[in-house]
Amino acid sequence: MSDSFANATLYFNQAADLLDLSSNMRRLLLMPEREVKVQVALEMDNGEIGTFVGFRIQHDSSRGPMKGGLRFHPEVDGDEVLTLASLMTWKTAVVNLPYGGAKGGIAVDTRKLSQGELERMTRKFVDEIHDMVGPDKDIPAPDMGTNAQVMAWFMNQYEKFYGFNPACVTGKPVELHGSEGREEATGRGVVCIAKAMLGKFGKNLPDATFALQGFGNVGSYAAKILHEGGGKVVGVTDMTGGVWNPEGLNIIELQAYANKSGGVAGFPGSDAITNAGLLAAPVDVLIPAALGGVLTADNAKDVRAKYIVEAANNPTRPEADEILRDRGILCVPDILANAGGVTVSYFEWVQNQQKFRWDLAHVRHELEKIMLDSFNKVWDLAQEKKVPLRTAAYLLGVGRVARATALGGI
Ligand code: GLU
Repeated sequence: MSDSFANATLYFNQAADLLDLSSNMRRLLLMPEREVKVQVALEMDNGEIGTFVGFRIQHDSSRGPMKGGLRFHPEVDGDEVLTLASLMTWKTAVVNLPYGGAKGGIAVDTRKLSQGELERMTRKFVDEIHDMVGPDKDIPAPDMGTNAQVMAWFMNQYEKFYGFNPACVTGKPVELHGSEGREEATGRGVVCIAKAMLGKFGKNLPDATFALQGFGNVGSYAAKILHEGGGKVVGVTDMTGGVWNPEGLNIIELQAYANKSGGVAGFPGSDAITNAGLLAAPVDVLIPAALGGVLTADNAKDVRAKYIVEAANNPTRPEADEILRDRGILCVPDILANAGGVTVSYFEWVQNQQKFRWDLAHVRHELEKIMLDSFNKVWDLAQEKKVPLRTAAYLLGVGRVARATALGGI
């Protein structure tokens, strides 16, 4: 078994032990239903042919159509996509959406592509995989390196085969059958979870300091919503560098600065901080909101935060998870903390199917209800079973998938 998937399996097995699942059931639940690897060949702007590798991995459909993002990133490979697809299965189950899990991606550095190349790449990928996805089969969404525009191209290309079909993909632009509140949803969900967790210790957002790794879609919205809620965001890093201000960064100004200069580095009125410095910063809450595998056996001993809220997928390696736990640092796992995105994807899919639009207040209200309810369920389960929150989240998610599988049969 590959490295990244082996790590994800470890958490699964901890829950499977507590659920007393048979080895046959474990094998059935872990093995993906379908893995597809395709050639994505397109004409580049310079007239040459660019050839890329694309994946769509469908992990489990026992609770409904499979759901999960589409990642365009140089580090995309089959092992990573399988890991992320399995995380989607447990994530949709933790927040009790009627979905299974899938993930896709193309190994590419989108910063090296023109808009035209990005569009042709997206359309070509749809040409290759259209028969395995669809509103009742598998519904892609944005992830790292993709956005609402990519989803619009995806839908448009899919519709060339099947006609009007807005529910074939989520995270679309609001002007083109997307949902209000989808773009901010993962960040908003993260803040909702951070607030609920602090609440368990008698604290509120203004009583805490926050450091965020990543200032992309998830990190920037989480920072903005924390800032609006009175939370003090003291540190932020991204690919260009990092900024630190113990008095709290003005996130609205930081966002405007990053939009203009391409990143957070050099934001006036702040000190520079490295990525390693940020992960070891003296804050209450550390929020990894970028790549996976950033908390390792090496740096986990340096973490000084009291709490970690995993906005990224798979940011903590199992060795680090153990060290953090031994050091009494409370970690809210990805499959709960970042489920706000897929939750509003679900609302978008529902609106598309019903041909009825929700307003922003309604989306936010329903999102907060689901996030809070799921948090409380995981929290109570952790207390009852005396296990970490991650184990409790897997217990809830894996338990639901296992029951659905047993009820449906094979
Ligand atoms: N890519 C997001 C995730 O990892 C959202 C998936 C979706 O909306 O389907 O959860």
